[in-house]
Amino acid sequence: MKALIWQGTNKVGIETVPDPTLLLPSDAIVKITSTAICGSDLHLLDGYIPSMEKGDIMGHEFMGEVVEVGKDVKRLKVGDRVIVPFNIACGLCDHCTRGNYSACDNTNPNHRMAEALYGAVSGGGLFGYSHIYGGYAGGQAQYVRVPFADVGGFKIESNLRDDQVLFLTDIFPTGYQAAENCQIVKGRDVVAVFGAGPVGQFAARSAQMLGAAKVIIVDRVPERLKMAEAAGIETINYEQTDVLIALREATGGRGPDHVIDAVGLEAHGHGPGALMDTAKQKMRLNFDRITALRWAILSCAKGGTVSMPGVYGGLVDKMPMGAAFAKGLVFRMGQTHTHRYVRPLLAHIEKGDIDPSFVITHRATLDEAPELYKTFREKHDGCIKVVLDPWGQLAGKA
Ligand SMILES: [Zn+2]
Ligand SMILES: [Zn+2]
Repeated sequence: MKALIWQGTNKVGIETVPDPTLLLPSDAIVKITSTAICGSDLHLLDGYIPSMEKGDIMGHEFMGEVVEVGKDVKRLKVGDRVIVPFNIACGLCDHCTRGNYSACDNTNPNHRMAEALYGAVSGGGLFGYSHIYGGYAGGQAQYVRVPFADVGGFKIESNLRDDQVLFLTDIFPTGYQAAENCQIVKGRDVVAVFGAGPVGQFAARSAQMLGAAKVIIVDRVPERLKMAEAAGIETINYEQTDVLIALREATGGRGPDHVIDAVGLEAHGHGPGALMDTAKQKMRLNFDRITALRWAILSCAKGGTVSMPGVYGGLVDKMPMGAAFAKGLVFRMGQTHTHRYVRPLLAHIEKGDIDPSFVITHRATLDEAPELYKTFREKHDGCIKVVLDPWGQLAGKA
């Protein structure tokens, strides 16, 4: 089959590789009909998330048709149309039974690597996301092996298009969990979202769905701000204004009640803190550039929540903990417990509350994916979200 392969830092390409096969009786093989490039794939591309190996298949946002099932798979059968969350969960361990699927104890065979890197316990396995997360083959390919298929394969029985349900694999639940973590008081709370990329867009719309009185999104890319404006979200371009003052002005002086950092470890931004982060990150002296997180802490109202769906990879410098403590902020973060959200959010899509395809700007074939990685990384051509067809139809701009 054809697959998008990590060939080295900043180098991906299409290669022909062996088709996946069933390895365990709880596996299924899925023929992929749609797959997407995620912002977090860029952290693999440039090596900020370590432990990729040459030959690894990337991709963790995919859906398709079940073509083979192991003998222990009970809930899925050949021919079923499924979406598959990006995290792999066993469904049986203590964390899974509490609904904390991304903390699964049984799906990351390389947990010791993660523990060595982060100095603590690791999360569960992830598709196509480095060896510290299990080294599973990803879904930017024509086929994928889905372990624990009864837990990770969610049947889509309505006639919604692929592009309306594909993002249930990651970015919609990720944005939604980030908003839910804010425990928004309906009709009263103001939520600010840093980063108007795909996750930020879904976090902002989820905050609206959860009843926020006002949602404000902060970015510097005009077309990303425009996409948010189309949904009635207020916008701040941090290159044109002082973001901390603008957020105070928009909230009667108190700051947003909750702030979502949908940027993570490769923030841009400006000021001495941002410059120092960039210099140190280039020398690998620290992992993360945290401008967005600093702004989140400094802008958030007293007693508010700083919710962090953006990915962080290591140690951070110059985090304003004094401000966070003085304001009594609550921090919520981590990988999304995607499985928890698939069915409730699918119900919202079926009811017409939201059509997640709004975020797509580019469609391409798998062969065009290496080029699209560059377009997406450079934010060229208005690129916000790329959907790939591994079987070569649907090419062209969305
Ligand atoms: Zn993703
Ligand atoms: Zn588990």
